[in-house]
Amino acid sequence: MKQQTRLVHLGRPKRSEWPAPVNPPVHRASTVTFPTLESYQSVFSAPYGTYSYGRDGTPTIFAFEQAMAHLEGGDAALAMPSGVAAIVSSILALAKSGDHILFPDSMYGSARAFCKRQLPRLGIDHSFYRPRASATEVEAAIQPNTRALYIESPGSITLEVADVPALVDVARARGIATIMDNTWATPLLFPAVAKGVDISIHAATKYIIGHSDAMLGVVVTKKHHFEALRQTQSDYGYVAGSEEAYLGLRGLRTLDVRLRRHQQNALKLAEHLQTRPEIESVLYPALPDSRDHALWRRDFSGACGLFSAVVASDFLPVLEYFVDSLRHFAIGASWGGFESLVTVHNPGRSRSFADWSEKTILRFHVGLEDADDLISDVDRAFEVARKQS
Ligand SMILES: *Cc1c(COP(=O)(O)O)cnc(C)c1O
Repeated sequence: MKQQTRLVHLGRPKRSEWPAPVNPPVHRASTVTFPTLESYQSVFSAPYGTYSYGRDGTPTIFAFEQAMAHLEGGDAALAMPSGVAAIVSSILALAKSGDHILFPDSMYGSARAFCKRQLPRLGIDHSFYRPRASATEVEAAIQPNTRALYIESPGSITLEVADVPALVDVARARGIATIMDNTWATPLLFPAVAKGVDISIHAATKYIIGHSDAMLGVVVTKKHHFEALRQTQSDYGYVAGSEEAYLGLRGLRTLDVRLRRHQQNALKLAEHLQTRPEIESVLYPALPDSRDHALWRRDFSGACGLFSAVVASDFLPVLEYFVDSLRHFAIGASWGGFESLVTVHNPGRSRSFADWSEKTILRFHVGLEDADDLISDVDRAFEVARKQS
């Protein structure tokens, strides 16, 4: 089966269960009741995926998890209440006090905040590597106590593409696990586990749910790391809601068609922004003349609608007028919904390497609107801002 056909079939009631609704029901449960004491007690030794108590998952959650595991090429998945919960449990499943983890400098901001605030309290050491570091440079940064190599590709805000297969090889050779935040690509554009990553993380809050109305995270892995992940999830009580898992599953049905349109619109807007004097450069690996285009083409089967634009320094004084004048791009965190969004970032303020120290970045999430409407909106906002200077 091709991925697109899988998106339609995964996680739905089987033919043997018909008559049944097209979609699985939403199981609202804390307590699950049992007919006998023996059957109740037997679930304590049953494998994951047994319906026993709301915190240990429901059939709706299991259906979403199985769909995600299939799409990523993994053996199993665990749904979490948010993308950050998925990141935190992956890190804590692998590392203990005295260990070290290597992170890319462009890792998602809230995950970086977790590392900075919480890892020292747990006695877990961490350091950062340049997002475009070669496999040799990353290998040189590995310490005797390094337990995991964390990857995020493309990176948050600055969208550097990593050579994932090369990083996976380095980690394998050193007996280190790889964790990848794969939110940008979704399993459709980059099935990370199938490509050798040990633990793939998705903020399903973004494209998988796709409608900006719920929080959900998911971790996909092979058998090897599953028990450690499951234990960590259970010990921290990181349970996803059935309603959210249902929305995740529903989002998968249209993920392919949505992503194609997001990419088409984003490419048009990105190419247009390249012609504007207010923009110094556009950071989007799908652009043919972008720095990481060849690597992106080699490994990814498409792009989503999230990209960034470096603002030209002479436009900075009126940037706020530009952002406030946009009508189709709302100002707000997150991305992956059907609607366009914009935010402003100064990545240099939170990074370890000085590469972005002076830069101001406009981050666009390009939605499913008509691309020409979006381009006119941006042009009009540029003119409004220009009149202020
Ligand atoms: C949004 C995001 C997350 C966190 O997801 P939440 O569901 O908001 O916790 C993690 N990684 C990336 C790359 C993200 O953009």
